[in-house]
Amino acid sequence: MDRIAELERQYVLRSWSVQSKNTYTNVVGGKGAFFWDDQGKKYLDFSAQLVNANVGHQDPRVIEAIKEQADKMCYVAPFYASEPRARLAQEVIEVCPPSMGKVFFTLGGAESNENAIKIARMYTGKMKVISRYRSYHGATYGAITLTGDPRRPPVEPGIPGVLKVFDHYCYRCSFGLRYPSCDVRCAESIREVIQYENPDTVAAVTVETVTGTNGIFVPPPEYLPRLREICDEFSVLLICDEVMSGFGRTGEWFAVDHWKIQPDMMTMAKGLTSGYVPLGAVVVSKDIAKGFEDRMFWCGLTYSGHSLACAAGLGNMRAYREDGMIGNAKRLGNVMDQELAAIMDRHPSVGDIRNIGLFGAIELVKDRETREPLAPWNGPDPGVMGAINKFLLERGVYTYLRWNLLFLTPPLCITESELVEGLAIVDESLRIADEFAAKKG
Ligand code: PLP
Repeated sequence: MDRIAELERQYVLRSWSVQSKNTYTNVVGGKGAFFWDDQGKKYLDFSAQLVNANVGHQDPRVIEAIKEQADKMCYVAPFYASEPRARLAQEVIEVCPPSMGKVFFTLGGAESNENAIKIARMYTGKMKVISRYRSYHGATYGAITLTGDPRRPPVEPGIPGVLKVFDHYCYRCSFGLRYPSCDVRCAESIREVIQYENPDTVAAVTVETVTGTNGIFVPPPEYLPRLREICDEFSVLLICDEVMSGFGRTGEWFAVDHWKIQPDMMTMAKGLTSGYVPLGAVVVSKDIAKGFEDRMFWCGLTYSGHSLACAAGLGNMRAYREDGMIGNAKRLGNVMDQELAAIMDRHPSVGDIRNIGLFGAIELVKDRETREPLAPWNGPDPGVMGAINKFLLERGVYTYLRWNLLFLTPPLCITESELVEGLAIVDESLRIADEFAAKKG
């Protein structure tokens, strides 16, 4: 192990891992859709680091924006006006749905959801918040309580007043139904829960507009419009977590744009700066913004709208626009759809493929009929997912694998040939899954 890797192993507590099982690759550089380590090994970044490096690595427009701001003024307290904060807020509102009014800047996704809960409670005077089981909303206490997935139970009890409902995971429907004859029971069941809970106590429903780390669940076309109606019926706020699905990831500025819904709040982070400097945001509707004109807004952060982070955000907005990256994600999303369909034809271990824009996943099974997962949900990897990952890394493709899922979320600046080349390596890697499924089957 080299010196840096050794220091990291000795002194850094790494997220979401058993420390002794970690590996330590020292990453020293990157460009566009690639990064490389200190041994000179180059990787195609098929996961855009943590699905955040949307504009790609080392974009000169973002770097220049940060440098210019650093030369002028590195930090201005939130109670002064400051150019990068004001301009970025305006630019964000301009690409949001028309109902959105103002931005509260945070430092990341969890903090955005944390503040969205507070705002929902303050604005409605109600306490309960509903979220879904197959969801991730961040690791701080409120956000992890909103989270449904296995990262929540180990740190419970969380905050009071959060309830869980089932998802639109159509491949494994919790209600045992099939789309479209299901009539989106998953949305109707949320209506039922609101009624049982007493609508006068329910402040908000929070959903990932397109579910990310739990498996890329794209909602059926009726789902979000119906959820919007249900929320309106009971004066419940709809909060759309766009932390992962925002800023072009799905081929539109925000995933909500696909279904033309107007949320009451949107939370965002990741693609806001593509990770160059930490930044998050809660965007609130014009109505909610008005609600705080004459009453106290009980939220605050020393680094709300940090000058360097907002400059990075402005650099990102410029890069998205100048290179048409959102359109690129949409166009290459169609390419990815076709390639994934061909991969599914070739590999019996592929149970389902899901994608929107450059936000995709392959779900692996032992048997297409029974849909038994190739590796258990929240269980130990029987060895097969690790073997696929090893193959991919050896062939220079870095991506995210979890349970029986292989994620495909490259930077939005990726070219068609890079995408196709990477998918060809993924295709090859799935021979390992097929062989494992055939042996076990
Ligand atoms: N919300 C969603 C949908 C996410 O995917 C994530 C992180 O992956 C978060 C919130 C939390 O963001 P952060 O890690 O910046 O706190």
